[in-house]
Amino acid sequence: MTQSPAADTASADTAADVLIVGSGAAGLTAALALPDHLRVTVLAKGALDEGSTAWAQGGIAAVLEPGDTFEHHVRDTVIAGAGLNDPAVVEQVVGRAPAAIERLRELGVPFAEEGGALHLTREGGHSHRRIVHVADATGWAVQEALLRAAAARPNIRLLPDRVAVDLATGRHEERYSGAGNVWGVYAADRRTGRVELHTGRATILATGGAGRAYLFSTAPAGATGDGIAMAWRAGARVSNMEFMQFHPTCLYDLRVKNFLITEAVRGEGGRLVNPATGERFMARYDPERLELAPRDVVARAIDAEIKRHGLDYVHLDISHQPPDFVRAHFPNIHEKLTGLGIDMTREPIPVVPAQHYTCGGIVIDADGRTDLPGLYAAGECTQSGLHGANRLASNSLLECFVYGEAAADHIGRHLDTLPPVPPIRPWDESRVTHSDEEVVIKQNWTEIRRFMWNYVGIVRTTKRLQRAASRIRLMRDEVADYYGHFRVTPDLIELRNLLEVADLIVRCALARHESRGLHYTLDYPDTLATAADTVLVP
Ligand SMILES: Cc1cc2nc3c(=O)[nH]c(=O)nc-3n(C[C@H](O)[C@H](O)[C@H](O)COP(=O)(O)OP(=O)(O)OC[C@H]3O[C@@H](n4cnc5c(N)ncnc54)[C@H](O)[C@@H]3O)c2cc1C
Repeated sequence: MTQSPAADTASADTAADVLIVGSGAAGLTAALALPDHLRVTVLAKGALDEGSTAWAQGGIAAVLEPGDTFEHHVRDTVIAGAGLNDPAVVEQVVGRAPAAIERLRELGVPFAEEGGALHLTREGGHSHRRIVHVADATGWAVQEALLRAAAARPNIRLLPDRVAVDLATGRHEERYSGAGNVWGVYAADRRTGRVELHTGRATILATGGAGRAYLFSTAPAGATGDGIAMAWRAGARVSNMEFMQFHPTCLYDLRVKNFLITEAVRGEGGRLVNPATGERFMARYDPERLELAPRDVVARAIDAEIKRHGLDYVHLDISHQPPDFVRAHFPNIHEKLTGLGIDMTREPIPVVPAQHYTCGGIVIDADGRTDLPGLYAAGECTQSGLHGANRLASNSLLECFVYGEAAADHIGRHLDTLPPVPPIRPWDESRVTHSDEEVVIKQNWTEIRRFMWNYVGIVRTTKRLQRAASRIRLMRDEVADYYGHFRVTPDLIELRNLLEVADLIVRCALARHESRGLHYTLDYPDTLATAADTVLVP
């Protein structure tokens, strides 16, 4: 038995002109850029500020420094992306960055200034100072400003605690079937447990990344790739999912699993040490730059040590610096670690690399359009062509602003050409019962994240990927059976989506017979002369 829509249509209460799934930088930017005569609904699966946006630390990249040029920013982006970026897209995004920053200032984001001008920092891979920031909590300030502005707009409804389950498409209703048109989503209301139909003549997916497919990820708990999985199930192409960015140093602590230890700790002298041998091992991997080698080099070195010695983690040690120096430079990290029983002024910090950013996703065009009529997407859930095989630091928030606006602009100009929402069946809740086997969900959830970590992590082999693929096949049957028989819960929705995105990651990784950017496989260590996206067609 499958859960499927029954009869009737959305009530006026859940019918909007434009439905946006996601209240992060991409979703709220789109909401604010839509004409204010349109009724806009924004759904979030938990609290409105629970996405990655609020967690962004560093800042947003834009050409603002005298002497810097768009060409430089484009070149840095393409070098990071290992030549897989779409040059036209990179130019479009980079060119629109200064205006996006200006709009954020108008919304009240208090970017750091120096001498009356914006203060710009420099990050790895950038040839110039071009990162605007709000101390080390840029994302929080951006999220706050966008939410404040959206809440003040009478045409925007913000609905937290609605977990989208699937897209409402023409396919559910043969009578109204129109080439996979999308007219909204079915979403579970956490407070009532009921699945409601939310309609929109246009729908924008802005659901963020899929980092939580991995045991260690710096992303928030909700980053389970829901939008990517929903779009794929509905028939949209997905691309480049093999390019998962890993941050080299995340705290190893099974209670926390997502606490980032900033690169600055290595910048201030922190040493990476193998806890089994006591060796400062970076000398073997990058004798010149040691701990300050690029992120992917350091992440791969740590991964190699962990795999070779069967370790759970390596040590990051800054205890040779004076305690006052460590406390002054890293007050937040020091406080957090002290709370977990680690005194970083006297002992090493256990660290592992952690998934950090999802470069691939739903294929979109320059207007944020997906393959499905009526469905747009923006932000980390997409593959726009900007990042290629590796994201340049601080380009990701920028992508959210540019594509949030692009989608809104296109919808504003073309909404009238989209078919009106036909009667669509609401979710059929009569046939499903509550499960008394929640343990199945917990067990599968942990298992996926572990095998993705072990088999589909930083260094891959065909054999490991195939192992992961066969686990996924087994678990999909089990979860499909479970999904068909029991009432959907947020955990079950996320588990189903995690399996879907795990499958997409593995399929993309198996399809790429080379190593490029973030995808490194021992079976194909070389980079091919011609760069091509991995595109999966449903
Ligand atoms: C620790 C950390 C630091 C970072 N630092 C930077 C940085 O300095 N600069 C930079 O450019 N980038 C940075 N990034 C990346 C950047 O934060 C993200 O790429 C960006 O914020 C993604 O925004 P988004 O709008 O696409 O998604 P998010 O901000 O993740 O928002 C996703 C939204 O979708 C909703 N959602 C998801 N699934 C569902 C569902 N099923 N139903 C309903 N709603 C759903 C969520 O509730 C949420 O509202 C960082 C990321 C992390 C994790």
